[in-house]
Amino acid sequence: MVPYFDYRPGYRRIQTEIADAVARVLDSGQLILGEEVRSFEEEFAGFVGARRAVGVNSGTDALVLALRVIGIGPGDEVLTVANAGVPPVAAIRAVGATPRFVDVDPGTLLIDVGSIEDAITPATRCIVPVHLYGQPVDLDAILTVARARNLRVIEDCAQAHGATYRGRHVGTFGDVGCFSFYPTKNLGAFGDGGACVTDSPELADRLCLQRMYGFDGDRYAHCEGVNSRLDELQAAILRVKLTHLDATIAERRQLAARYVERLADGPIRPLELVEGTEHAYHLFVVRTGNRPACTQRLERAGIGFGVHYPDPVHLMTAYAFLGHREGDFPVSEAAGKEILSLPLYDGLEPDAVDRVVHALRID
Ligand SMILES: *Cc1c(COP(=O)(O)O)cnc(C)c1O
Repeated sequence: MVPYFDYRPGYRRIQTEIADAVARVLDSGQLILGEEVRSFEEEFAGFVGARRAVGVNSGTDALVLALRVIGIGPGDEVLTVANAGVPPVAAIRAVGATPRFVDVDPGTLLIDVGSIEDAITPATRCIVPVHLYGQPVDLDAILTVARARNLRVIEDCAQAHGATYRGRHVGTFGDVGCFSFYPTKNLGAFGDGGACVTDSPELADRLCLQRMYGFDGDRYAHCEGVNSRLDELQAAILRVKLTHLDATIAERRQLAARYVERLADGPIRPLELVEGTEHAYHLFVVRTGNRPACTQRLERAGIGFGVHYPDPVHLMTAYAFLGHREGDFPVSEAAGKEILSLPLYDGLEPDAVDRVVHALRID
């Protein structure tokens, strides 16, 4: 039996450090916006190489607040992809803006940078590229279009902690980089959490106001904000996990390389890699022309799997008002029927990878 995801093997390796961190917070008498959050923000900014990090309640909220502080609102259009799940689209809608989709590259399933220009209208203000599955998008191409067309860039790094583009961490290229600490993510809390990173102290200060009703150390609303805080317990846990993040990402890369090697020359293909980048392998995604047969074999062998994501967002009922129909983004639509995410998490044993590949190969 190999589960699709399990936080416990990774947790057990650092159990005493986690217990100490939790006890430290509970003994401190401070549960909200104290030393742990401040220290985590500093340490996380240091990890990605940004000037500032601001802890918030989730990756989705990180996107919402980032869009808000750069001034995106009703009447504005924001470009993103339809194959990265609902959160980026929900964030765009939360600020009252309109999502406009760009199809993805058939090899990598990342935003097709060649199609961005075609999606730009006079109302377009921003691009939200998603470093999907942990693989960086072509940031040079995106920044070139953004500069030429005067668009802002908010990077969705929810799946890409530790991924680099030309040697630099993702999240440091756009105006703001948005991370999720949802438990399954590369840096996962034991609850919800997220963060924005930015090199702009002004944007960071505005994010701090936004996450607590516009308060600036007082109970006076200096601007309209929301309640979206990272709590002290999650921050303390994340501080422990951050010290192990380079090692756990190296482990993910080794497990992914093992999958690639074991699957070589077979009909089940990993996604293509982007040159000049280091993939952080939040997910190990393969493509198959016969997914039902694959999932049946895995089920018989007691092996878990995921599909990220079966339904492109532009065809979901909730977004019918955008007026899309099947065929509008054909690569995103086809991918939803072919992709399969194999088990990959901290503490997954290398021989579990072998068992997964073996199960897939039995005819
Ligand atoms: C997980 C995820 C989010 C949202 O993060 P939450 O912390 O769950 O709100 C946003 N974008 C992508 C691509 C994600 O995978």
